[in-house]
Amino acid sequence: MKKSIPELYGSLVFNDAVMRDKLPKDIYKALRKTIDNNTHLEKDVANAVAIAMKEWAVEHGATHFTHWFQPMTGFTAEKHDSFISPIDEGKAMMDFSGKELIKGEPDASSFPSGGLRATFEARGYTAWDPTSPAFIKDGTLCIPTAFCSYEGEALDKKTPLLRSMEALSKEAVKLLHILGDTDVTSVKTTVGPEQEYFLIDKEDFKKRKDLIFTGRTLIGAMPPKGQELDDHYFGMLKPRVAAYMHDLDEELWKLGIPAKTKHNEVAPCQHELAPVFETSNVAVDHNQLTMEIMKKVADRHGYVCLLHEKPFAGINGSGKHNNWSISTNTGVNLLDPGKKPAENIRFLLFLTAVIKAVDEYADLLRVSVAGAGNDHRLGANEAPPAIISIFIGDELVKVLDSIINKSSFASEKELMSIGATVLPHFVKDTTDRNRTSPFAFTVNKFEFRSLGSSASVSTPNIVLNTAVADVLAEFSEKLEGTEPDELTDKIYNLIRDTILAHKRIIFNGNGYTDEWVKEAEARGLYNLRSTPDALPVFKSDKSKKLFIKHGVFSETEIDSRTEILFENYVKTLHIESLTLQDMLQKEFLPSVMKYSDQICESISSKKSINKEIPTGASEKLLNILSLNYEQISELLEKLYDDTEKAGEIADINEQAVFYHDVVKKDMDDVRKVVDQTEILIPDEILPYPTYEKMLFYV
Ligand code: ADP
Ligand code: MG
Repeated sequence: MKKSIPELYGSLVFNDAVMRDKLPKDIYKALRKTIDNNTHLEKDVANAVAIAMKEWAVEHGATHFTHWFQPMTGFTAEKHDSFISPIDEGKAMMDFSGKELIKGEPDASSFPSGGLRATFEARGYTAWDPTSPAFIKDGTLCIPTAFCSYEGEALDKKTPLLRSMEALSKEAVKLLHILGDTDVTSVKTTVGPEQEYFLIDKEDFKKRKDLIFTGRTLIGAMPPKGQELDDHYFGMLKPRVAAYMHDLDEELWKLGIPAKTKHNEVAPCQHELAPVFETSNVAVDHNQLTMEIMKKVADRHGYVCLLHEKPFAGINGSGKHNNWSISTNTGVNLLDPGKKPAENIRFLLFLTAVIKAVDEYADLLRVSVAGAGNDHRLGANEAPPAIISIFIGDELVKVLDSIINKSSFASEKELMSIGATVLPHFVKDTTDRNRTSPFAFTVNKFEFRSLGSSASVSTPNIVLNTAVADVLAEFSEKLEGTEPDELTDKIYNLIRDTILAHKRIIFNGNGYTDEWVKEAEARGLYNLRSTPDALPVFKSDKSKKLFIKHGVFSETEIDSRTEILFENYVKTLHIESLTLQDMLQKEFLPSVMKYSDQICESISSKKSINKEIPTGASEKLLNILSLNYEQISELLEKLYDDTEKAGEIADINEQAVFYHDVVKKDMDDVRKVVDQTEILIPDEILPYPTYEKMLFYV
């Protein structure tokens, strides 16, 4: 019998209900304490949890377990061990210990470490993260873990995220205590990542080397119709797509991933899935799983799910919107303007902190979303621009303006009346949206929209948490020791000074225009256009100071991560260049030749019948094809030579710049002629499916 949704939901997760059911009371309590208050986990607790976890997993058909982790590849990694333990008489039992639960030791020498570890130092450890629930995937118990080197340096995306969450919690609690909220003992950041993706036919995918090797099309002319009619956005779901989404939802629900909203996106074949928000750490894990399950389910439905930021030139790319907020353990969303004026001052202070953090660390936020794929989106007329600015809406601007414009400090009552008349009004009127802003305040959360669709959402949240923690620490320092009757005044002063210093980052207009680029420059905002432009920021003194101060990254961790980011960029472009060369040399040019031959034959056979038959149009076409053939061959040679040159550059920073300035430009140049030629060639001669075929016949 088919399970009902509530029965299905979380059925493959070792969640709170299962723990409560399976664990002795004292063990459950101890584990809860670790999860809720970040306390250290004792060994006997781990042992008891391991026994219960194994029992539950075996009941659900699991035969293996794995430490599931997130190395710097951007994907997840797993190495499966069976529960089998041989006993006497050739028999075996299913076994799993606390030690196996809390610590793993994968031979990790082949994961990117950015020079943190030489290959001979293969040892790496995985450590159980009890704050993210274990789950069963394909008959294997998956235990979310952090991954570090023998020396304890983070080699993954989870460790620094957990550190940044702790940093933010610490600083937020401190500030809240100063404000009088002394019952708050911890604060959690919450994340709801909206995920965009494309679905195309598996058969089409298999015929395109560019999609197979690089995740995006490197050539391909626009079809007669693109997305200009906006008729796909929120359009009716086709039955086959609906069946896919239905299946996907169920798979995600089983894993306790709260998939909530699904709809068609702007581009043909593009869709979106939004989950209900969760604690950052869990949300990041769940987004990784979501991407994996999206691909798996697609395969079952004869689709391929493309997560690349720009699978098709000239058509919208895919991103992720990182909805982010901060909540206390007492259940208060600190970015909720609320209805009670008494709460506004706290809201305004936290809002101000985020504004300052984003202005001060806009460059780091930009780096956190940098990558070869996302370079195609940021700054194009579809995604938020590469310039980071904040949209807070007209009403909040008015609130902040009114605080600034008090020449002398107003009485609390007066200021509260600002809150009373304006904020509830704001809550009602917040429906006006600014789709072009990279960092938008929406109702009770911020939405960071610059993220790429394929990347882990970890790094942007690490930067965001740490930057905000830093400002909160500064605020606490300024407010600490203030007499209670002076506190409100002092907070308003602090808000005013901070907004005055950082209001350049607030921009409520259209971020897609050239005027904004000019204005942003005049305001002194960063415009880091490409990944090679942005990456050096990560290892700047300012960045190191921030991360080291809050214990999020060590200096060597920052250096190694920068190295990995550069390497990723260079390797991606290198693979793209080789793939394009291969496709042109072995597939596209031969097809041009083949068609030209056909035209030649046709001309000569016509002429053999009657010399007077007009063949001018055919000859003209033949001429164009021949000219283009020559031009493509020349440009291809240049691409080949420049790619060779790129390989000889020793300095990785310079190499990245060369790939961006020279190799990428070569690729664009040759593509232009190829696309102009493609539209002249009949589909049956073309060696791969066209945009038209891929996007409009699914
Ligand atoms: P919008 O339509 O304005 O984007 P939604 O309410 O549809 O807003 O939310 C979009 C995403 O934001 C969802 O994934 C949702 O779970 C998430 N979200 C809502 N509230 C929060 C919050 N407090 N913290 C983090 N994410 C949130
Ligand atoms: Mg949204």
